[in-house]
Amino acid sequence: MQVGIPKEVREHEKRVAATPETVKKLVGQGHEVVVEAGAGLGAAVADAAFEAAGAKIVADKAAAFAADVVLKVQRPTDDEMGLLKEGQYLVGMLDPYFNKDQVKVYADKKLTTFSLELLPRTTRAQAMDVLSSQANLAGYKAVVEAMAAYDRAMPMMMTAAGTVTPAKVFIVGAGVAGLQAIATARRMGAVVSATDVRPAAREEVQSLGAKFVGFVPEDAATSGGYARPLTPEEQAEQAKMVADHIKGQDIVITTAQIPGRNAPRIVTAEMVQSMRRGSVILDMAVETGGNVEGSKLGEVVEVEGVRVLGIPNLPAKLAPATSVLYAKNLLNFVALIVDGESKSPVVNKDDNLVAGTLLTEGGAVVHPNFQS
Ligand code: NAD
Repeated sequence: MQVGIPKEVREHEKRVAATPETVKKLVGQGHEVVVEAGAGLGAAVADAAFEAAGAKIVADKAAAFAADVVLKVQRPTDDEMGLLKEGQYLVGMLDPYFNKDQVKVYADKKLTTFSLELLPRTTRAQAMDVLSSQANLAGYKAVVEAMAAYDRAMPMMMTAAGTVTPAKVFIVGAGVAGLQAIATARRMGAVVSATDVRPAAREEVQSLGAKFVGFVPEDAATSGGYARPLTPEEQAEQAKMVADHIKGQDIVITTAQIPGRNAPRIVTAEMVQSMRRGSVILDMAVETGGNVEGSKLGEVVEVEGVRVLGIPNLPAKLAPATSVLYAKNLLNFVALIVDGESKSPVVNKDDNLVAGTLLTEGGAVVHPNFQS
């Protein structure tokens, strides 16, 4: 089959859905790979490197979108949708919860679409878990960005002129991104604390050498391993704890998410104001509504000397590294949707990872979460 790799066009997106390594593997498996010219440049991959790996470089975007299976980072724009035709397979991070109308358009166009954010979080899924691979590096980058904006030192420094105290870093949400943020801030010498609502998080936080603060409500983890939204009473209790803790912190990184919903609001404007001048807050959930009151996508909001960073698409800021992991995730997933003998795309619904990510097929929305 033919696999198409278009150049990503959405604002701030620099990643690419294949690397020379994955192209080589796909070609070795008997597929033809068509890469749009310049698709890898944002991720530091030249056309020549793709070509050397066996890809065909096409100048025409439509040619990359004409493949049997189109691999994307982000969901297609309206213009890109116009290039897709009945019967094609589309795989990517299609962000379906926040784009339900587009899911209907995939069905109307009779596309077979897979959204990898929907992958069940099982052991077998780990090799194709795009949320984990991207969040991991984003958690690292969040600390780097916050540290760059912070105008004091991260580690303790003892000098002849006196001792510089280490920064106190508080991580809200200890999932994949949060745990990596904890580890990164610890490596930089900060004193790190973290909170989460899932019971398992306490031990994970402590195992990284950070202090767990806060409260863990009953049954806050769902069977899928995700957090559930808190009740108003639980929210009030959490707010009390965060308000107490945050005023002594220098850097706060918030990562809390509830799949399919707007991010929970955890840090209020009063809490921001309670921090000392020069403190930095980085809201990693800014794209889904924000954990921090007043954070703005693409802006640094300053509140009485406290800077609140709302950086868009953190994974794309490390595009060469995140693309390597993302492309590998896709390569592993594509193996599930290819018929071993004919080498053509196939939907094997007996495979729970295929069924779990399948959004549309045969002109219908088939994923239960998106059927209206
Ligand atoms: P996520 O991005 O959905 O959310 C980030 C974190 O925010 C989570 O830890 C969540 O519990 C927390 N959170 C949500 N609401 C909160 C609130 N009100 N206050 C404080 N914290 C809040 O999470 P994720 O990083 O994608 O991880 C989700 C789960 O999946 C975790 O249990 C993780 O261990 C698990 N996981 C499993 C696998 C696997 O086995 N394949 C891979 C990766 C992650």
